[in-house]
Amino acid sequence: MKKLNVVVWNEFRHEKTKDEVRALYPDGLHALIKSFLDKNEDMEVSLAALDDPDQGLPDERLEKIDVLIWWGHMAHKEVSDELVAKIQKRVYEGKMGFVALHSAHHSKPFRAIVGTNGNLSWGRNQKEIMWTLMPSHEIAAGIPDHFLLESEELYSEPFYIPQPDALVFGAWFEDGHIMRAGACFHRGAGRVFYFQPGHETCRSFYNPYVQRVITNAVRWAKPLEHGYEIPEGAPHITAKTVDEFNQ
Ligand code: ZN
Repeated sequence: MKKLNVVVWNEFRHEKTKDEVRALYPDGLHALIKSFLDKNEDMEVSLAALDDPDQGLPDERLEKIDVLIWWGHMAHKEVSDELVAKIQKRVYEGKMGFVALHSAHHSKPFRAIVGTNGNLSWGRNQKEIMWTLMPSHEIAAGIPDHFLLESEELYSEPFYIPQPDALVFGAWFEDGHIMRAGACFHRGAGRVFYFQPGHETCRSFYNPYVQRVITNAVRWAKPLEHGYEIPEGAPHITAKTVDEFNQ
């Protein structure tokens, strides 16, 4: 069986600049994500960071990735537009799935792929209840009807995403806010999943249900066997014009 090539990309800056974050994720939050994904025999997981050469994703590496997991926050603007275009193309061609975690709602690749400004409201860390809205979905496999996160950053509606193709999870926060917390999008021939937990000063990535959701999401987002090639310089409209048909 060919293993899924999974890369966990992290901007990896908070861990280097804030003691509180480093204490929680000494090797970076991407390393923690890798540690639980590594338990799956169908996955080959590796790490990438913004400050690596080619921002962690040189062409020869990007071309082999089946599912790209993305976490960014303070350095979204530093991600090169050229790289974002390559990521978007690979997803649209069905060659790579994309899983956006937490503050990646404002990341350049998530915005470009899904077609959104990614804006939402946010506030203090607090208690969150994650509700499973779509138990039949494969990303909800093994997840109870709800689970509790003792402390997570408040993310709230309005969340300016297009209507998701599937809304698998919804969150309730202690202050009364709600949030579309786990949303699937089909873009071109590719799949995208957004999942809200994962603030850098919270322990959500240690939560077994959060880990299971991310694991399920990787398998759901994996590329199509056949892919779909977008020809270089292809015109958007290849059909004949009405006039040509009428001749
Ligand atoms: Zn955050």
